[in-house]
Amino acid sequence: MVVISINEKKYKAQEGENVLKVAIREGIDIPYLCYQETLSPYGACRLCMVEVISGGKPGLTTSCTLPVAEGLTVETESVEVVQVRKVLLELYLSEAPGSQKIRELAKKYGVDRSRFTHIDVTAKGDRCVLCGLCVRVCDEILGIGAINYAGRGTSTSINTPWYDTSSVCIGCGACEYVCPADAIDIFDQDDERIMETWNKTTLKLKECEESMKHFATERLVELVGSKNISFTRELENLSPDAKMRKAAAEFLLKPKRNS
Ligand code: SF4
Repeated sequence: MVVISINEKKYKAQEGENVLKVAIREGIDIPYLCYQETLSPYGACRLCMVEVISGGKPGLTTSCTLPVAEGLTVETESVEVVQVRKVLLELYLSEAPGSQKIRELAKKYGVDRSRFTHIDVTAKGDRCVLCGLCVRVCDEILGIGAINYAGRGTSTSINTPWYDTSSVCIGCGACEYVCPADAIDIFDQDDERIMETWNKTTLKLKECEESMKHFATERLVELVGSKNISFTRELENLSPDAKMRKAAAEFLLKPKRNS
């Protein structure tokens, strides 16, 4: 256990934790786009910047990659920190003006316009702010790694290998779920799920035998099946909704045993 100081208040922290994690736990408001506690910190969006006053290398640094240390003292809203955040938010606002999360953060910091070039907001892929959350969720949580950074410099994007349809994507939608910029476009059409952003990778959807609704891609159902989650044969081809209703009905209707 170590003691660190954030905004002149002392907090206990576990060795190995980063400053952002401690701040979130303690209710200290630090903005971020690319952080998720369950994923490895990456420091890509730079919004979680704090100023180290003492106990570490003085200056500005990202709090998600700053490990706690005894006596570490940081400020989360110093003049320099706020100034950098405002410029970053201007940049993100120009790249992803449709993102509610970015708009809310910009408003909070008094940023209502951007000096940077306005990018085509109708092209969803172009709204990407390269935070890499989608890459990490696909790799670290799912173990699939269907997407990654591609290209260099200003033409860097997140894409499938060779900018082609993916042969490994399972169409789970986790990447779309974590994207803070609303830059990933996935939609269902008839019995198919189309990953528009991932070069129109298209996967077959499975139909629930009871509701006759398509509920997940066949590949996702296969993956869940391979994780040794034991469903009875009868429950295997039902959607999660139907499964829960059936399980609840069975529980309620089962004759109670007299003990
Ligand atoms: S939909 Fe495809 S790319 Fe997105 S997280 Fe799932 S497997 Fe990865």
